[in-house]
Amino acid sequence: MGTIQMSNPATGEVIGQLHEKTEVEVHEAMRHARNAFPAWRQTPLTERIEYIKQLRIYLVQHAEEIADKIVADTGKTRVEALMTEVYASVEFLKYYEKEAPSILKTRKVRTPLALFGHRSEVQYRPMGAVAVISPWNYPLQLSLVPVVSALLAGNTVLLKPSEVTPLTGVLMEEALASSGLPRHVVQVIHGGKSVGQHLIESLPDKIFFTGSVATGKKIMAHAAEHLIPVSMELGGKDPMIVFADADLNRAINGALWGGLTNAGQTCISVERLYVQFEIYGAVATRLREQAEELQFYNGHEGDIGSMTDPRQVEIVEEQIRDAVEKGATILCGGKRTEPGSLYFEPTVIVDVDDTMKIATEETFGPVIVMMPFHTEEQAIQLANHSTYGLSASVWTKDLNKAHRISNQLECGSVGINNVIVPFANPHMPFGGVKHSGIGRYHGPEGLYAFCHTTSVMVNKGTKKRELHWYPYTKEAENAIRSLIRSMYGDRFRLSKTELKNIWKQFRRQE
Ligand code: NAD
Repeated sequence: MGTIQMSNPATGEVIGQLHEKTEVEVHEAMRHARNAFPAWRQTPLTERIEYIKQLRIYLVQHAEEIADKIVADTGKTRVEALMTEVYASVEFLKYYEKEAPSILKTRKVRTPLALFGHRSEVQYRPMGAVAVISPWNYPLQLSLVPVVSALLAGNTVLLKPSEVTPLTGVLMEEALASSGLPRHVVQVIHGGKSVGQHLIESLPDKIFFTGSVATGKKIMAHAAEHLIPVSMELGGKDPMIVFADADLNRAINGALWGGLTNAGQTCISVERLYVQFEIYGAVATRLREQAEELQFYNGHEGDIGSMTDPRQVEIVEEQIRDAVEKGATILCGGKRTEPGSLYFEPTVIVDVDDTMKIATEETFGPVIVMMPFHTEEQAIQLANHSTYGLSASVWTKDLNKAHRISNQLECGSVGINNVIVPFANPHMPFGGVKHSGIGRYHGPEGLYAFCHTTSVMVNKGTKKRELHWYPYTKEAENAIRSLIRSMYGDRFRLSKTELKNIWKQFRRQE
């Protein structure tokens, strides 16, 4: 059995240890989840919502303590822990408590004339025992939102939190237990990569994965062998496009926050800042000045927390080294505050081109990479020139132009004169295109991601036959021909005789 060390990345202080689940335990948990599924799917939605409400109230009542633990687990600032973890989670929970009944309600739909006598409806049915595998950058909300979506849709859930932030895994286990959910309806499977692999090998009925592209590909390859449906929330290299007519104060403040919040470890952070040539120099100077004014978080106050995972700091250092070797200029930052520390200086880099890793690969650190552009067309071409397509932002006072550009960006969400925020609106679906992911969550799509959409067509069952059943008669053929002509041509054309024949055929075997 493996053991995970829990330590505070900002201070290095060891917080404790956590036992990883064994392969046998993971498979046992899956058995429990499958056994708990039939009763849970029959539990009325109103009752399921009541459990989620209890969870939300627990999160609110323990918000300070939860924020403390997340700060200790991730190194992020207290404002970030409260805002992007606790607040974001309860906001989404409340949205789904209110909206789940209308989202999951069986939907009556119209029935074509040729199927006269039938009633049609679309149902949203749970999938079974589902796996949610989550990352370390927002360990609470990126776990709880999909877990709660899956539960409300009637699934039982196995959550594997990131081994990089195990303390948050423990606090989620406590929070979920506090809601009084029936045994084994949700289980937290602590552990690292191999535990994640065991979970996938236990053949869940759906995999909801948030994490890196590399892991996403491995999980998808395994899922493909067993045709397990997947949602993939993967990495990004988001562009921010700033035109000369933008409000510069707002754009610079937005770029700083969008590039550096959570020490840049945000899937939808600003990773490529494209600035129109006329204002490029001024923006670079002010970005550098303002970045240098930001304060490191000291456990009580400050703007920039420590990074969370030592391996991620090494990736950032390697990308900066590669960029500098190839001719990039560091305007500020570019290094840790001291050797061994996970605090990384807010960094602004210019003279960047596509031969550099920092321009094309996800950096996931407090680094803003600036590049100039001249025209709208060039901005769009540069923004779309990426294997990723998670999110993007466009900054200009000309909203027509903003929409024109937004419509041509290849990504899952766009902010106009803002950044990151489309993710925070629970009504809006979220996800990526290209290597940034497959599928959507948040909004109604967030519940449908955990449903089998099932179509049911109802007939009273009193007629012997349908129009299109055997025996195939000349009259039925004529009726079908008349239907095609009348219903789907450029204008309605049906003689009385044809109408009579159609009607007769519909009623022929009553
Ligand atoms: P990661 O891929 O290393 O790990 C994510 C999770 O997968 C962890 O729980 C890990 O233990 C598990 N895992 C690793 N290998 C596995 C395997 N073979 N089988 C099953 N599970 C396995 O990602 P990370 O470093 O934790 O997270 C950072 C990445 O997540 C970044 O690329 C970031 O952009 C992305 N991300 C995406 C979104 C989004 O919504 N699109 C949100 C946040 C983070």
